[in-house]
Amino acid sequence: MAPVKVSKICCIGAGYVGGPTCAVIALKCPHITVTIVDLNQARIDAWNSPDFNVPIYEPGLVDVIRQARGRNLFFSTDVDKAVREADLIFVSVNTPTKKSGVGAGFGADLHYVESATRRIAAVATSNKIVVEKSTVPCRTAESMRTILEANSKPGIRFDILSNPEFLAEGTAISDLFAPDRVLIGSLQTSEGKDACKALADVYANWVPKERILTRISSVNALSAICEATGANIDEVAHAVGFDSRIGPKFLRASVGFGGSCFQKDILNLVVEMNEYQKSRFSKTVVDTLFNTITGKHIAVLGFAFKADTGDTRESAAISIIRDFLSEHLQEACPNTPLESIKKSVTIVHSALEACKQKEAIVIATEWKEFQSIDWELVYGQMAKPAFVFDGRMILDAEKLRKIGFTVKVIGRGDRV
Ligand code: ADP
Repeated sequence: MAPVKVSKICCIGAGYVGGPTCAVIALKCPHITVTIVDLNQARIDAWNSPDFNVPIYEPGLVDVIRQARGRNLFFSTDVDKAVREADLIFVSVNTPTKKSGVGAGFGADLHYVESATRRIAAVATSNKIVVEKSTVPCRTAESMRTILEANSKPGIRFDILSNPEFLAEGTAISDLFAPDRVLIGSLQTSEGKDACKALADVYANWVPKERILTRISSVNALSAICEATGANIDEVAHAVGFDSRIGPKFLRASVGFGGSCFQKDILNLVVEMNEYQKSRFSKTVVDTLFNTITGKHIAVLGFAFKADTGDTRESAAISIIRDFLSEHLQEACPNTPLESIKKSVTIVHSALEACKQKEAIVIATEWKEFQSIDWELVYGQMAKPAFVFDGRMILDAEKLRKIGFTVKVIGRGDRV
């Protein structure tokens, strides 16, 4: 298939990124109709104000709006209509820093990205190129892809691109007029490359070709390695190198160490690694579910610390549930007593019942009953996309994927 010739663009989010970026696209591409939509009526009214009292101050912006608005640039609150009509959709909604839960203080809250993506999937009636434009962590494009693929109607294709924004507030318009570079990333498929080309052609209306870099993603391979090792090797090497007794020689093997402290430290380290492994699993779950589980429903299959026991002491399921609770209950913390955990979770005795209407299944306990579960039936009852996080490498991931599940196995760099 030949690359799409983009003639209608929709931009979801009329903020600091979407507004100036898509206004400049409209100015520079008079043959493309650009509609910027936002749920915030006051913001849209301001963009449409007769005296150009636009909601964002950027030198040069009003000039751009004056030239393009009403010609091929429109501002509207009718998100669905603009999405339906567009060939290419920029998602540039807000991504505030999370205030609580996993990643609080530094992780991005992606629930606006998620709901915009779900909206696209719900209303689209033709193929779309969806461009992630918000300032978001790597992998967001993959989460968007998962949602779009799981919720689209038959015969409709979505190609997802990453097109990170480098503009600085205060110089947005001159940055957009003459960018140092435009970066576009896609999947390494022929459809992905075509979508890349379609967006590159839009920018090529005013940006010199050599400054438009289309990068076919090697991120998947890299993230698989990071996932498999669970570590940022630079950080580890850096931290270890600080210890003057070890220094840069820490990789040298020897006959073994003596003394008591080092041994004790190592034992502590093993315990900490185990704790870390559990919290890393919770983090994987939260990250994959769009960096937030607020308002979501998760089935945890298995509560004991291993199969064939009722013993829940130090059970991995409980640490993970604690992590999940801290995601949406600010008062919960790693020391939440077991009793209050039991109050916050509903305990049922059938896997099918546990999974009904849930977005994700988390497996933290090896459990013989997994063999007898009718996964097709479970899938049918779940919200889509339906995720399975296998913390025990116990399920047949391929079989589940064939049914339609998105499967993530801890310790493996599976694409989600
Ligand atoms: P940024 O600085 O990333 O552009 P802003 O907060 O300035 O972020 O703008 C983001 C805009 O996205 C806001 O005006 C918000 O109302 C809008 N928005 C968020 N979610 C949606 C959605 N699902 N549909 C339409 N607009 C949205």
